[in-house]
Formats: sequence, structure tokens, C-alpha cells
Amino acid sequence: MGISNQQLFKRAQEVIPGGVNSPVRSFRSVGGSPYFVARAEGAYVWDVEGRRYLDYVQSWGASILGHAHPKVIEAIRAAAGDGTSYGAPTEREVLLAEAICARVEGCENVRLVSSGTEAGMSAVRVARGFTGRDRILIFEGCYHGHSDGLLAAGGSGVATLGLPASAGVPPGAVAETVVVPYNVVPEIGDDVAAVIVEPIAANMGLVAPERGFLEGLRAACDAAGALLIFDEVITGFRVGLGGCAAVFGVRPDLWCFGKVIGGGLPLAAFGGRRDVMEALAPLGPVYQAGTLSGNPLATAAGLAVLDLLDDSSFTELAHRAASLAEGLAAVLADADFAVQVPVQGPLLSVFFSDAPVRNYADASAAAATGTYAKLFAALLDQNVAFAPSPYEVLFPSLAHTDDEIARTVDVVAAAARAIRA
Ligand SMILES: *Cc1c(COP(=O)(O)O)cnc(C)c1O
Repeated sequence: MGISNQQLFKRAQEVIPGGVNSPVRSFRSVGGSPYFVARAEGAYVWDVEGRRYLDYVQSWGASILGHAHPKVIEAIRAAAGDGTSYGAPTEREVLLAEAICARVEGCENVRLVSSGTEAGMSAVRVARGFTGRDRILIFEGCYHGHSDGLLAAGGSGVATLGLPASAGVPPGAVAETVVVPYNVVPEIGDDVAAVIVEPIAANMGLVAPERGFLEGLRAACDAAGALLIFDEVITGFRVGLGGCAAVFGVRPDLWCFGKVIGGGLPLAAFGGRRDVMEALAPLGPVYQAGTLSGNPLATAAGLAVLDLLDDSSFTELAHRAASLAEGLAAVLADADFAVQVPVQGPLLSVFFSDAPVRNYADASAAAATGTYAKLFAALLDQNVAFAPSPYEVLFPSLAHTDDEIARTVDVVAAAARAIRA
């Protein structure tokens, strides 16, 4: 017999804080202990004990094609044979930047980085450098990575000057970060450098922008001379080739991309207006850099993924998400749960709430029912892996067939009855 999940988790906890390299993987918010993945293919992952799970985590959205797509793996293999990092520019960096700028209208310049955290942090820095202003506005429940200035917590419901959302973040680091509720256009003063927003919020479960919200932000930023930043680390190249800007017809000044564009390797990007991006070194005074930025393996994976996506991919994905959402809503309601299953294109999530969820306060009330954690455990028992947190969305991939979607709905129906019993 090989090693078990339990044995590995025990060893992991001896040498890695909490046994994990990113906290949500620990299952803390749903209970139980994590499975350790040995391999993955398409819609499935296998753990070290050989158990197979139908996977809706999909590397938190990085795997839009499903795991280990043969064309992506082949691109990575071929790239690796030529060396894994040079510290000098490469052709694929140019190709990937061209591919992004060609698909996202208004994105004239991009710089490649290695994580969404870096993308958010750097977008804010260039916005501050370009405008000569310090203050930024963020929305409660949106996530922009774990850089100090973006780890601010708000009070409930009202605009608050940010308090550190984590120990180790000095108050000074968030002194210029204002936290406001999602889905309300805030007042934007002329001291604001930028407003950063997830145009579809997907880190408090799925919360859609209400009609007029993004348009209102655009107008308010224009009036104040502030920049609008769309953090499309989840939605970029997932809701469509042009991202949320194309879907909603609102163009930001800057974008953050990640997840999908790295094809499962560490790659992200920030970009936007040429005049703003040219404030970056070496052209301008805003410093930003990275030893592994534009890494040859990561750009190979990203290019392979973008090459396989066209408009029909997103239509197909949205169709599968819609049927999953419809199925989940029906079987959970049948089992007498007050439930909301919002869906936006290819993204969906499950809230145990009797009213639509509009913001973080609503989302946390739904999470506090504890029902999601029960559903998660009952599904995992049946080898269906939902996200191990009520604040995450589901990521059906292009490898999830209609059959797998239908089977998921059946398993959720049985799980819902089991929770009730
Ligand atoms: C995942 C995520 C990030 C952070 O990306 P990392 O690669 O984990 O650093 C930033 N913004 C959004 C919207 C995300 O979903």
C-alpha cells in the first residue's frame, strides 16, 4: 500500500504551517482533512490512495480546458527541453502579450508576472505612480491577492478606511485603502488613484454586478480623474475572450489577469492603457520586476490554452454551467433548502440563503448557516469535489461533459436528502 491522505497530512503539518501552502486547501472552513492529489486528467483528480474525484476546483479556475490537456502538456514538454528560464526576453512573451492585447479590446500593453497577487499589487502601484495619488478603493468581499495594501478589511456595510485584514499588515500599509460595499457606487474623491474591482465578484461566492454598478464606477472614476482597474484574474478568458469588459461594455483603464492565462503554470499579467503602462520602468518611474516573469514554460502553457479557446468554447461552458446551476437549484429546493444558485456565464456558486446575495454581508450570512460545509462533506463522500469553502465558486471546465453535469446533479440530490435525514 502507498501512503494515505491522513499520513501525508500528518507529515505535512510537521513541516508546512497547517500542512498546506495556501490556507483554503486545509479544509478548515468545511471540516475534515484534505485529499492529496497524485494526478489529474480532464474533469477528474486522483488522490494518493487512488480514489477519483469529479473536480470542480480545477486549480481555482486555472484549468479551463480541464486538467492535463494533451496540447498544453505537449507545449510544456517541448518548452522544457529548451531550458526553463533564461533571464532574457523570449519570443513567446511577445506572442502571449500580443494574444492578450488582440483579444481584450482597450488593453494596449501588458506586463507578465507570476501570480495574481503580483498583478494586483503592480496594477495599483502603476495607477498610483501615473496619477500621483495614493488612495485606492476596494470592495468588501473582493479578493486581489495577498499584498499588504490590498489586505484591508472593511466594517460592515459602510465605507470604512481599511483596517488590516491580517496580522502582520501594518496599519500604515492600508492607511490609503478604503473598503466599500460591493454593488454600490461609492463617492470617489479627487485624491483617489484607482478603484479596483472584480467586475463579477467570485471570491465571496458568485456575486454579479447589478445593473449600472460597473457603468457607475466608470463614470465616477472619470469624474474624479481616478483609474478603474478590473481584476479579471478569474473572469479573464473565462467569461469570454474579451473578459467582463466585453460582456458588460465597460472598459477599465487597467486589467489584472491570471489563472486561465497560465494554463496551470505560475503566470499572470497586468495591462491596459499604453500611457499608463508606460509609467513602468524602464520607460517610466514606477519600478516593477520579476526573475521568472514571462517564464518560458508558463508562456508555452498560456499560449496553448489561448490557442484552443474561441467564442464557441465560452458558449459551451456557459451552457454547462447553466444546466448545472438549474439542476442544483431544483434538487436543493426539492430537499427544502432555501438556496440561491447564481450563474454568470461559465461561473456559478451555491448560497444557502432565501434571498439573492448582493454583497459580502449577504454572502457571509449564507456561509454562517453551515449548510455548505455539510453539502461539501456529503459530496466528497460520493467522490465529487466542490470547493472546500462556502466563499468559492464552482469551475466546470470544458472537460466536464453533459453526463458529468447530470451525474453531479444526481449526487447533490442524494446528498441533500442525506443531510435532511
Ligand atoms: C486568485 C485571485 C487573485 C490572486 O491570484 P494568485 O495567483 O493566487 O496570487 C487575485 N485576484 C482574483 C480576483 C483572484 O481570484
